[in-house]
Formats: sequence, C-alpha cells, structure tokens
Amino acid sequence: MSDRGTRYPAAKQPNCPDCGIAMETGFIPDTSNAFIHEASSWVSGEAKEAFWNGLDLKGRLAFPIRSYRCSRCGLLREYAFTPSFRHG
Ligand SMILES: [Zn+2]
Repeated sequence: MSDRGTRYPAAKQPNCPDCGIAMETGFIPDTSNAFIHEASSWVSGEAKEAFWNGLDLKGRLAFPIRSYRCSRCGLLREYAFTPSFRHG
C-alpha cells in the first residue's frame, strides 16, 4: 500500500494552535474497569452493540489516546498515533 508510513504516524508533541506553546502530554484514564486503569483508546468503524458486552470490538485495532493540554488556555487535543493491541 502506498499510504504505509502515514497510516501510523510517529508520536509528536503538538503546540497549542491558539497560544503557540508546547502542550503537556497526558491521557484520559478509562475508569470502566474498577481494578485496572488504562488509557482510553480509539477504535475505527461504527459503534455496534454486542449482545452481552456493550460495544462489539472484536478484531478491531485499539489506538491509545494521547491527550495534550495547553497550560496557558486549557485547550485539550487528542491524538491516536499507533495501535497498541487488537481486540480479540
Ligand atoms: Zn493555549
């Protein structure tokens, strides 16, 4: 495929589009599991209900969401750079 290399971009630290200063790196914890806290992740495609388990994520790649915060104005920007696992 010709888009290889752009499909999973390398992580980069963005600047705030309003203030032009480097944004702080962070993440948004997924609190759905009471015992293991992970970063929320992005999955591609339409959200479909599974019969038992809420959303059907089978076979989909999960991209951890990196959230960047501007320390001057508080703006948040989210990026999903590379997948970390595929849902089974
Ligand atoms: Zn800002």
